[in-house]
Amino acid sequence: MTEKGKLIVISGPSGAGKSTVVFKAIGNRQDICFSTSVTTRQPRPGEVDGREYFFISPERFQEMVEKDELLEHATYVSHSYGTPRAYVTEKLNAGMNVILDIEVQGARQVRQKLPEAVLIFIIPPSLEELRRRLEGRGTDSPEAIRGRLERARQEYAEADFYDYILVNDDLEEAGRQFEAILTAEHLRAKDRMELLRTED
Ligand code: ADP
Ligand code: 5GP
Repeated sequence: MTEKGKLIVISGPSGAGKSTVVFKAIGNRQDICFSTSVTTRQPRPGEVDGREYFFISPERFQEMVEKDELLEHATYVSHSYGTPRAYVTEKLNAGMNVILDIEVQGARQVRQKLPEAVLIFIIPPSLEELRRRLEGRGTDSPEAIRGRLERARQEYAEADFYDYILVNDDLEEAGRQFEAILTAEHLRAKDRMELLRTED
């Protein structure tokens, strides 16, 4: 029987380095995939439908909610975001580890629906460093950066239900720690009881 994959949720303030750490850890691994969310927000310059997100209308989003096609969904800065359930189920059943990059309200729903999911909160070494990274990334106005820092404070206050807190200071080290979590999660006793069978 194929071992079932792990559902891995990553959250953390925008600019903490979530995408950077995950790409670092994944390298060329074939056993990890990303879930692409649906959103009602407009694509930013350079974003491609079906790559960063599936960009859909509020009506289609509502229909997905009503048909229970979303594993979780949330509103973030007046737009709706959600994780299509079918892709996640299919990949987990095929033994793939599936990564969701979602905010805290969505992570809370995943925790309730799928308690075995692994929840990782990724943070920068300090909020001052977060500000530097957001400035360095160059995608946000000074006002947006202030908003994101404020949002980071709120998220920290709500993030007490995560399994792991990963500090993305040195990127190499953060990538190793991410892989270490994945390795440990695959060694959990409850998933490996067949190894303790002593009869043929
Ligand atoms: P997120 O996905 O959390 O919004 P990004 O992965 O886009 O964040 O990273 C935000 C910025 O910080 C990027 O410019 C990235 O190159 C930089 N960055 C990520 N990790 C580190 C690190 N460990 N040290 C310094 N800069 C980093
Ligand atoms: P952005 O609009 O900057 O791409 O994303 C805004 C926020 O929405 C980020 O914190 C991101 O992690 C979160 N997000 C993206 N997709 C989903 C999703 O499917 N569900 C939830 N709950 N949050 C999401």
